[in-house]
Amino acid sequence: MPDTDLLQGRCHCGAVRLTVPATRFGIVACHCEDCQQLHGKFFAMIAADREAVRLEGEASVQRHDSSATVVRAFCRNCGSRLYKDAQGSPRLLLAAGLFGRHTGMRLRKHVWDASKPDWYELPALDAPGTP
Ligand SMILES: [Zn+2]
Ligand SMILES: [Zn+2]
Repeated sequence: MPDTDLLQGRCHCGAVRLTVPATRFGIVACHCEDCQQLHGKFFAMIAADREAVRLEGEASVQRHDSSATVVRAFCRNCGSRLYKDAQGSPRLLLAAGLFGRHTGMRLRKHVWDASKPDWYELPALDAPGTP
């Protein structure tokens, strides 16, 4: 997939739309307790350079400080989780589920997997450790 390809996503109600360049790294799954509480399960994210992300529908974006250094954003109309924003990181971590069925990416990395609850096994990685 060429770098110029764009991925387009939207929240459930469509008030917020996100456009990111296709990333070659793929999907990161975070299994930390914050993600479990905020998402109901682990959070699957697409890492994208902050400057490359285009967000439409700012008026519908609600932000929440989930820790001293992390901001989470969701749609205030429908509640869809939009992204995780870690202070100091050049990247935003966007909710993979916003981008539909055909992303061209694979699940590449687990983080905080030691914090996962006991009711699921970690999904298999595609080419683990390969950027
Ligand atoms: Zn929405
Ligand atoms: Zn997490």
